[in-house]
Amino acid sequence: MSTIVSISTAPGIGGIGIIRMSGENTFEILTKIFRPLKEEKIENIKGYTMKYGNIIENGEIIDEVLVSYFKAPKSYTTENMCEINSHGGNIIVKRILEICLKNGAQLAEPGEFTKRAFLNGRIDLSQAESVIDVINAKSYKEVKSGIKQLEGRLSKQIREIKQEILDVLVNIEVTIDYPEYDVPEVQEKEIANMLDSINTKLQRLEKSFDNGRIIKEGIKTAIIGKPNAGKSSLLNTILGEERAIVTDIEGTTRDTIEEFVTINDIPLKLVDTAGIRKAKDEVEKIGITKSINEAKDAELIIAIFDGSKELTDEDIEIIELIKDKRVIILLNKSDLKEVLTKDNETLAKISKNIIKVSILNKEGIEQLYDKISEMFNLNEINLDNEILITNLRHKNIISKTIENVKKAKEALDINMPIDIITIYIKEILEELGEITGEAVTEDVINEIFSKFCLGK
Ligand code: GDP
Repeated sequence: MSTIVSISTAPGIGGIGIIRMSGENTFEILTKIFRPLKEEKIENIKGYTMKYGNIIENGEIIDEVLVSYFKAPKSYTTENMCEINSHGGNIIVKRILEICLKNGAQLAEPGEFTKRAFLNGRIDLSQAESVIDVINAKSYKEVKSGIKQLEGRLSKQIREIKQEILDVLVNIEVTIDYPEYDVPEVQEKEIANMLDSINTKLQRLEKSFDNGRIIKEGIKTAIIGKPNAGKSSLLNTILGEERAIVTDIEGTTRDTIEEFVTINDIPLKLVDTAGIRKAKDEVEKIGITKSINEAKDAELIIAIFDGSKELTDEDIEIIELIKDKRVIILLNKSDLKEVLTKDNETLAKISKNIIKVSILNKEGIEQLYDKISEMFNLNEINLDNEILITNLRHKNIISKTIENVKKAKEALDINMPIDIITIYIKEILEELGEITGEAVTEDVINEIFSKFCLGK
């Protein structure tokens, strides 16, 4: 494989920059461009060591650097690799990259280092995918679940299921080799047991996606309320920044604003919606239709009512819209004279969770946070022991596999010939191989790695 190079640190100003190189000619190229303080033959340099020296071009010192050496097969990609730690910033790292390119390296594609680690068999596809998850994580929980997957826990579980299937397949093949024998009943029983056992394991994995998805995407939470109830103020308070425009002119939040936040370690995808009311113009109408859809779609609704006023027709319309959802009701503006109380029957009908707040004075917000923690207790998920599916691709494969397990079981129940059942079982094996990567098309692989950042 060619020798690839890339800048691995994020663009911008920083203390150091890292240029990474991997492939057969890594050390050959390095020897041409790097002059270590103490010159040594490359054969004598041990892997996992670092050398200090200068990057040189046409006799000129370009930068003072530290270079780490990784020798095949003990490296991220399993190939010869090096990492040049240069000064940070936009200019110097680019210059060193160009020097590497001039001396024979090729520019790496996004994710190409990890792709090589996968193609060279050091990690499987699900582990490679977890690398992106860790890098793109928006919360510590997401990092943790990614690291667990990188450790290979999902891969191990899939391997175990596959081994179970293989054991039975071997058994079946023996019978097929001697077709004069009927399938013994005991063997049928064994197949049925195996199918039940993997079904249980697969269902558990499929179910784990409920929490896995929350960890990855956040609980979709719509903040809803009539104009001026205090939606934008709440969003701003939660975000601690002026993300949405706070204004007392009705109907200015015309589009929805989405933001990912973690509250007490619970990830939320917050959507601030345009005030729901009878719109006067077309643009506002679009915003309102969007709000209604967001509300229908959300897993949690934070409904804000102006506690200093009686419920209006607009409030009633909102209540109608959210009555079947998981709702936290905020009675806002508690700093003003209280008109709407927690005992309000109309409100009590849609939710037990009613909290008095003054968003303006930041009062009652902690109670809101505690309520969210109480409703979605993700702390119950034990990331140390549970295997969590967080990736939609994996979830879809598992669902497909469960379908085939069901079909195989049905075929067995109605005494279909054993070779038909074998076809289903082999399909299950193949599908599980799509998670770990033994049975995926090049297109799928390319698609997965194209989502990576450069230099990883
Ligand atoms: P939205 O239209 O629902 O997004 O409402 P905004 O967040 O823009 O707030 C509308 C107005 O109500 C603004 O003038 C806010 O300052 C005011 N407001 C928001 N929360 C409170 C509160 O707790 N008490 C009082 N007195 N005013 C508030």
